[in-house]
Amino acid sequence: MSRLQDKVAIVTGGARGIGAAAVELFHQEGAKVVIADIQDALGQALADRLRGGGTDDSITYIHCDVSKEDDVARLVDATVARYGKLDVMYCNAGISDGRPGSILDATREQLDRMIGVNLVGAFLGAKHAARVMIPMKRGGGGGSVLFTASACTAIGGLGSHCYAMTKYGIVGLARNLASELGRHGVRVNCVSPSGVVTTGVGGGGRVKSEAEVAEVGNLKGRNLTVDDVARAALFLASDEARYVSGVNLLVDGGFSTVNPSML
Ligand code: NAD
Repeated sequence: MSRLQDKVAIVTGGARGIGAAAVELFHQEGAKVVIADIQDALGQALADRLRGGGTDDSITYIHCDVSKEDDVARLVDATVARYGKLDVMYCNAGISDGRPGSILDATREQLDRMIGVNLVGAFLGAKHAARVMIPMKRGGGGGSVLFTASACTAIGGLGSHCYAMTKYGIVGLARNLASELGRHGVRVNCVSPSGVVTTGVGGGGRVKSEAEVAEVGNLKGRNLTVDDVARAALFLASDEARYVSGVNLLVDGGFSTVNPSML
């Protein structure tokens, strides 16, 4: 049985990295998926590859800058117009600014940039998803709003102060919103990965090496992959997690539990 059969999902930041892995997995598991991103060529190419045939309408790409309310409202309305409903809103789009640094070097502009995409994007995605999910009045937790936060919400020194602030903010939104949306049958959760090799992890579009990623948050043995993160997101998106709401699910191989003196 496919775990997202007959569900309709939006994945923001779905053109590459963790989002693209989630798009592929959600689609494989039977969902109709809308890829939302600002990288149109990449997002469209992913949709074309997964569509695999002229008449298959199970996957769509829509341009959406998550920091712009009109874009997000249009994304949600276009999804409902095309597929008739929205079951899963995965607010994954985000930017990072590289390695942790001193607060003495952090700037107001850096903070505004992080907030403008990570926090505003999560807020707008959740708000407009709620706008269409609340009236659906489904029972049993069939609706799911999901965010990609970060393992920097569990351990210091994984990201910059500005980045960490936005990710803690997302966890705060998820917990507060879980309390509101639970009574409408909608669950709200976060996945929080440690370092994954994606274009985003290095900041500024640079891809880190496996060795660099291992340094900033993975257990020895093997590094975290985008597929590992997508599988955690799939669990929270699916009815298998039908009574799970308000959690920040760490996907870090236990890295944040390790006593530094034992490393
Ligand atoms: P990535 O850069 O590979 O992918 C991010 C995607 O988001 C890109 O396709 C990008 O175009 C899109 N995006 C950026 N700004 C956008 C905007 N304003 N509107 C719409 N789309 C936008 O990065 P990733 O590593 O896959 O990151 C995905 C999420 O995971 C982010 O929220 C990131 O903070 C989080 N995360 C990543 C890591 C990691 O190590 N890679 C660790 C913890 C959390």
